[in-house]
Amino acid sequence: LQVAISTGGAAPVLARRLRQRLETELDESLSALTDVLARERARIRWRFPHPGRRRRFFERLLDGEWPQQLRRGDVNANATFESALQSSDPSRCLGEVTLVGAGSGDPGLLTLKALRALQDADVIVHDRLVGPAILELARRDAECIDVGKRVGEDHDATQARIHELLLAHARAGHRVVRLHGGDPLVFGRGGEELAFLRAHAVAHAVVPGITAALACAAATGVPLTQRGLSRSVTLLAARGGENSQPPHWHALAAPNQTLAVYMGTGELANVTRELLAAGRGADTPFALVENGSLPNQRVVTGALADLPRLARAHDVRAPALLLIGEVAVHAGRVARTERCSNGPPRVLSEAA
Ligand code: SAH
Repeated sequence: LQVAISTGGAAPVLARRLRQRLETELDESLSALTDVLARERARIRWRFPHPGRRRRFFERLLDGEWPQQLRRGDVNANATFESALQSSDPSRCLGEVTLVGAGSGDPGLLTLKALRALQDADVIVHDRLVGPAILELARRDAECIDVGKRVGEDHDATQARIHELLLAHARAGHRVVRLHGGDPLVFGRGGEELAFLRAHAVAHAVVPGITAALACAAATGVPLTQRGLSRSVTLLAARGGENSQPPHWHALAAPNQTLAVYMGTGELANVTRELLAAGRGADTPFALVENGSLPNQRVVTGALADLPRLARAHDVRAPALLLIGEVAVHAGRVARTERCSNGPPRVLSEAA
């Protein structure tokens, strides 16, 4: 083990101070520890051929009492090492599944917890909305499985396959991350996954993420609530799936509230017609945000009555989020945004 400190001659006193500080933290037993691990490398590899399990063995060993025993020169250190090597029976190693929200596209929207979960994962089961920049943050040796649902596919069958994948990998003792775009529990079928994991007694946890409504509001400068303009915000799925009740359009059409409509690109005419019929004003502002928070974000704004026509004119494609309500007046007209080298996306040009 080598630790080097140099200031290139600029500040030898500083280097000495740092060395003294490190010496109190890193004592000579680390050298013995490194020697043992080097000597036992082949046995450890043979015992734990799977890199994930090997990593966990090392984590357990280094977090346990073995390093302290080596430090104290305790004669039991050897026995502790041997028992760790023998007792970490891979077949008894239980896996777990963490449902993780990746945020709405920009990797900067990942939470610290999400990042940690990604870096710990042996297997990552992810949506199509999760981009390569986010997957690059995972460990190199993690297995990434794309389970994105595509148009024309039987989504229920795909969901059943996702459940089976999660179960199989957890039972194989892997740390599984089920990575959702946005938040796992907002329109992501994360709720069904949780129920499935519960029913099969698989250890699980949830790490929330920045859902599209929040990311798109931030990226366009639209406050979802604002004194005098809107006192509530509703997250609405434009499509409800089979057997679902239609939305209560009269309640959703009341003034001074914000609607954030997900999965709406194919339903814009329908949403507009229902809201107008239920009494929402024809001049209610909307902001339709395509690829929110990403470098290719586009925003189309206008009055509700013009929504289907404007969306067609600008050829808005999924993923897009629709914000409807008085607050949407704060968004630009038609804006193409581009990422600055450091900072949030900025509005480059506006057109009518
Ligand atoms: N769990 C996700 C939503 C999944 S449903 C979340 O919390 O955000 C998929 C829908 O989310 C898309 O149809 C779109 O309406 C919205 N969406 C996801 N990412 C988006 C993005 N970057 N820009 C705009 N809308 C997005």
